[in-house]
Amino acid sequence: MNDELLRDEVIDVGEMPDLLEDVPEDHRSGFVAVVGRPNVGKSTLMNALLGQKVAIVSPRPQTTRNRITGILTRPDMQIIFIDTPGIHAPRHRLGEFMVEQALASLPDADLILWVTDVSKPPREDDLRVAEVLRAQTLPVFLVLNKIDITKPDGLQAHAQAYRELVTPAAELAVSALRGLGLAELLALLREQLPPGPRYFPPDQISEVQERFLVAELIREKALYHLREEVPHAVAVDVEEFKERPTGVIYIAARIFVERESQKGILVGKGGSMLKRIGREARMEIEQVLGSRVYLDLWVK
Ligand code: GDP
Ligand code: MG
Repeated sequence: MNDELLRDEVIDVGEMPDLLEDVPEDHRSGFVAVVGRPNVGKSTLMNALLGQKVAIVSPRPQTTRNRITGILTRPDMQIIFIDTPGIHAPRHRLGEFMVEQALASLPDADLILWVTDVSKPPREDDLRVAEVLRAQTLPVFLVLNKIDITKPDGLQAHAQAYRELVTPAAELAVSALRGLGLAELLALLREQLPPGPRYFPPDQISEVQERFLVAELIREKALYHLREEVPHAVAVDVEEFKERPTGVIYIAARIFVERESQKGILVGKGGSMLKRIGREARMEIEQVLGSRVYLDLWVK
């Protein structure tokens, strides 16, 4: 075994307990389920709250029944945001079975953030989410989002309509897009969360953040090799992201370009360019994730 490797391992093990235990006495922590119909701004809110602070570290988070969408760590609190698949009201009628499923995924949470679009009155999809929320007992924070595009009279009327659908433990008008009301929202969350430890190291990143980071690294490599040809038109979609039993992380990603000619450049003769981009991206991804990676790249 080589010396350097050994030293790294010792440092890792030595630092972890400090990071976890060195919290003030009134530290709060907990799991917050973020729910709401599509398009109300859940993702925008998550991004705004978590910032683009994508720190770089392993080990990766434990996966629970619920998907961790982000971890917010401050000196005084840690919030683990979770997504509850099934609750975001599908197009068809939310059947009893689906309500049960959605309910079953909630007990892992300490409280629920119900994100709504207050620029509009509640609609069918919102009513279905509310139905699930009424059937459970966790405190619900009503987040009235998009106040930046809400007319003053609409704000009152719509807020009242949302409020009547559940009995919120707290409510807050915000604009996730403009960053309005977010500090207040975090303060309210802190008040409501129980005293508790830091469940994850401060620089832990969630799988969603990892995917984002992986996509950015691949995009960066593709852009680098194309830079004279394509200034901006490269998008990357991470389609699979799985840790295999061997510990190798399998990632399948698709690179989207606008024109056939760009595709030709990216693929290269006999696929040589794509291989090169894949190799360069993989090496960086391995560093960032601290694991071995198998990267499958496609161009579309
Ligand atoms: P999700 O489906 O609930 O995750 O919603 P998204 O976060 O994807 O947002 C849906 C759309 O609403 C996007 O176009 C966002 O830019 C927009 N949006 C989100 N929050 C706000 C806000 O506070 N104000 C405005 N004007 N638009 C917002
Ligand atoms: Mg979303």
